[in-house]
Amino acid sequence: MHSPTLTILAALLTALVTAVLYAVWHFNKNIPGLRLWMLSFLCSSIFTVSLLARSWLPEVVGVVISQGFVALGAYLCLLAGRTYMGRRPFSHLYAAVGIGALVALSVVFTVVIPHLGMRFLLAGLGAGVCYLLTARTLAAGGMHRVPARYLLAGVLGLHGLFLLLRPALFTLGGAGLGALPGAGPIAQISQFVVLEAIVAVVLLGFGALILTNEFITSELRHLAEVDPLTSVFNRRAFFTLLDKAVSSAQRTHTPVPVLVLDLDHFKTINDTWGHRAGDDVLRHFVALGLRCLRKEDVMGRLGGEEFAIFLPNAGAEGARAVAERLRLLVESHPATAGARSIPLTVSIGIALCGPGDSAGAALQRADEAMYLAKQRGRNRVEMSGPAQPAAAPAVVATAA
Ligand code: GH3
Ligand code: MG
Ligand code: MG
Repeated sequence: MHSPTLTILAALLTALVTAVLYAVWHFNKNIPGLRLWMLSFLCSSIFTVSLLARSWLPEVVGVVISQGFVALGAYLCLLAGRTYMGRRPFSHLYAAVGIGALVALSVVFTVVIPHLGMRFLLAGLGAGVCYLLTARTLAAGGMHRVPARYLLAGVLGLHGLFLLLRPALFTLGGAGLGALPGAGPIAQISQFVVLEAIVAVVLLGFGALILTNEFITSELRHLAEVDPLTSVFNRRAFFTLLDKAVSSAQRTHTPVPVLVLDLDHFKTINDTWGHRAGDDVLRHFVALGLRCLRKEDVMGRLGGEEFAIFLPNAGAEGARAVAERLRLLVESHPATAGARSIPLTVSIGIALCGPGDSAGAALQRADEAMYLAKQRGRNRVEMSGPAQPAAAPAVVATAA
């Protein structure tokens, strides 16, 4: 039915893409779904080779192999997409039943009621639905943030649609679903179908590689931006985000409140309970801190037991309320070490980063306010006065 040259080309390209994906997977085994993607291409490779071996195989064996591997390849692609997106895996029982039914029906349309068009329809149906579902799974997360997913979803969607609409091409070509292959329009349409498959294999292969690249890039960015102990932003990333927030707030002349938070007597906690318990306390503190924040608020670890928060949409009073709530929450929720609890308090300094102010200067004033809270007995919130360009920063106390 297919032009042998095109089929050989399809087999070579599919094998090549499978080999490339295998090599990439071999060195990056942590990438979710990559192994399944590679296996999906392996199924496509077996399918294309089975097309070439058709004339040496009994017809029914060829049909079982090709139908089985087309459906399995598409299902593995769907599993790969779901794994990449962190979705729950399916129960394989449904897939096994579905693929088994497709293969059994194809055998019926080979041996009992020979009908090439129906076999073609069946092959396109299972695979087409799987590719469309994969496209739907991948198209999430925001076009600007993760464009590779949308690119691959687009290719998968078009390929899935083509597989579903493929039988209609033959009907439109005047061949009808039951027609046998031969010369004329049906041969040309068959060649077009193989060409589409070749283009799809290459694009999907590239798509899987681009997705791999997206994953590695986002992992590296995560490592560069996030504190490994507490999973909040590290000092550098926090400064970058604060700088950006201050620049955009200055366009609207709204000040950005900045909080500096330092755990009280943390050295004593380490000395008493050990460094590992100290680490647990830091994570416990961050969890409490995040409970007080809104989605747009940003928390970072400046170093050691010192943290900072900025609240892009809060005024001075809002920031004071958040700081006070956090202080109370920490005081009333001691960390735990086995059966015993570790009492914890925090001192907080607040500064407003207003127009003409810099992120660094505001953080410096918040730090000075935090030191004032330490001097005044700890477990307190202090608020810095407004920025005073050439003079020493004023610190206005507010009792805890
Ligand atoms: P103050 O109330 O004045 O802030 O006293 P403090 O004991 O909290 O401050 P100090 O700066 O004397 O001690 C900070 C301690 O934090 C010392 C250091 O060993 C500990 N520390 C810094 N980073 C880590 C960390 O990642 N894990 C643990 N467990 N301890 C850390
Ligand atoms: Mg401290
Ligand atoms: Mg400190």
